Amino acid sequence: MKIIDIDLTKRRVKLLDDSRLNQFLGGVSLATELFTKNCDPKVDPLSPENPIVFAIGPLTAAYPTAAKTVAMFKSPLNNELGESYAGGRLASAMRFSGYDGIIIRGKASHPVYIAIHDESITIKNAELLWNLRSVFSVGRILRDAEPQGPGRRSFIRTGRAGDRLIKYSYVNVDNYRHFGRLGLGTVFGSKNLKAIVVEGTRDITFPDMKAYKKAYKTIYNHLRDSDDMDKYHILGTSAGIQPMNAIGGLPTRNFSSGRFEFADNISGEYFAENLLLRKIACSQCPVGCIHVAYLRVPYKKEEYDVETTFVPYDYELLYAVGSNLGIEKASDVLRLIEITDRNGLDIITLGGILGWATDAFQQELISHKETMGVVFEYGSTMNYLTAIELLVQRENEFYRTLGEGLDACVKKYGGKDFAITIGGQTPAGYFTGPGSIIGHMIGQRHSHLCNAGYSYDQKHLGKELQYKDLVDSLIKEEQWRQVLNSLVVCLFARKVYNVSRSLESLNAIGLKITKEDLINLGQETYRKKNEWKIAAGQKMSVKRLADRLFSVESPHGYIKREFIQQAIDYYSELTAFPIE
Ligand code: SF4
Repeated sequence: MKIIDIDLTKRRVKLLDDSRLNQFLGGVSLATELFTKNCDPKVDPLSPENPIVFAIGPLTAAYPTAAKTVAMFKSPLNNELGESYAGGRLASAMRFSGYDGIIIRGKASHPVYIAIHDESITIKNAELLWNLRSVFSVGRILRDAEPQGPGRRSFIRTGRAGDRLIKYSYVNVDNYRHFGRLGLGTVFGSKNLKAIVVEGTRDITFPDMKAYKKAYKTIYNHLRDSDDMDKYHILGTSAGIQPMNAIGGLPTRNFSSGRFEFADNISGEYFAENLLLRKIACSQCPVGCIHVAYLRVPYKKEEYDVETTFVPYDYELLYAVGSNLGIEKASDVLRLIEITDRNGLDIITLGGILGWATDAFQQELISHKETMGVVFEYGSTMNYLTAIELLVQRENEFYRTLGEGLDACVKKYGGKDFAITIGGQTPAGYFTGPGSIIGHMIGQRHSHLCNAGYSYDQKHLGKELQYKDLVDSLIKEEQWRQVLNSLVVCLFARKVYNVSRSLESLNAIGLKITKEDLINLGQETYRKKNEWKIAAGQKMSVKRLADRLFSVESPHGYIKREFIQQAIDYYSELTAFPIE
């Protein structure tokens, strides 16, 4: 394995070539090894001692949809293990530049960016990029500033939110993909790191090209022909808005309902018919699930003087600043996505915080004095736009607190009963039943993608859930996902990369690995991450869950707090994970 090790404090770059790391295969397994060896679990996430690790996998750039990069860091949002994935061109640029991983430590004395062009690795001045209004301008400037060779290039950077240490800042990857959750952009900001440019010009070959081409074709054909990928290509993940609303699982107005009366207006179908501009794809992906809409907003006061921008949309975004804020019009949702994206904020966290603030305002826990005159009201796009601007400006104590995350808001202003946060982060847009809550709780990064608890709920609609079966199933699923995330394939293609096709893909490029090896790798990575999380002092807490989650009807009826507690107790018995 070839790893770049960069110390920003010392402005030192080291190259490691360590075959002992080969046993970790790549991706999350490699990142876990590098991160846990280099990060004291008790470290302050905003200190120079918090390292950032990026890793790609053995299939990267070799097979379709093997297009993701994993980032690992300690999260400044919830003080837990931070793990985030992004597509775009980063993974292939790393592969073609010859590196399996990157470690970044320390803190630069002034804003910098890192430029990697094959073996040339330099730390450059980024003072002029700091605090620019748009993350997209940062990308444009870097594209002009960096030499353009024949290689694959990727530009990852933070927005103003990261520069200002808002705790849920993202890292933008090649405009339309993101390391979205748990505040990687904030950790960048704490290191005075604005961006990383990676360009690679190398080629990749394998010992048996015939076997490789055969295995490639198998994967490609499944991606092209199987029904599993159709929805991602045709409508994108926003295809889920209408079905989720139909079963009553679409979080609406800060989870006060699972049904949104304007769901049709913000559905994938509506966007496709009226606003879709184009579909694009991560490197080496024939699916192209990234849907981009056009947004026309008045530019000046004169009639017909409009500015057109391109805004990506998907299910989570349409929930977070759509149904969850009661926004009725698709173009208004796009305006909220655009401002969030431009500033570099994690939109799911932002949507949860604005939802809480709206309820807190209506229940008079906060007033005009705190909000600087902004009326927090469901459906009010213009007011939310103003609030986001004030939040990014960190304009007063209230907006600074909003920038600290939902738990900090509750601590200062109250409103725990309607603060929808699980494991210190606002959940994804699935209020499907107990599985969605337990999945977020025990998921190692508190993401719906950890173990798909929401999917378990949907598969068992109309049936009585058994907490042991549910927990067993979620653990098994998450352990297998450690394997997929070590390869690192897109989880949308998880059915295509089943055990046998994953093995065929690995064997065809010369990695002689058995099914048992893969299973062990998944279990061991899972165990090691839990061990680090426990050492960091993390605990699961059912009592911290908002009452609202138990007082609104889900597709499985009213969720019982005791059921969640039983499941968490059982999980703790199996894994020794502590409970609060
Ligand atoms: S399916 Fe979508 S997210 Fe996954 S690799 Fe392809 S374009 Fe990227």
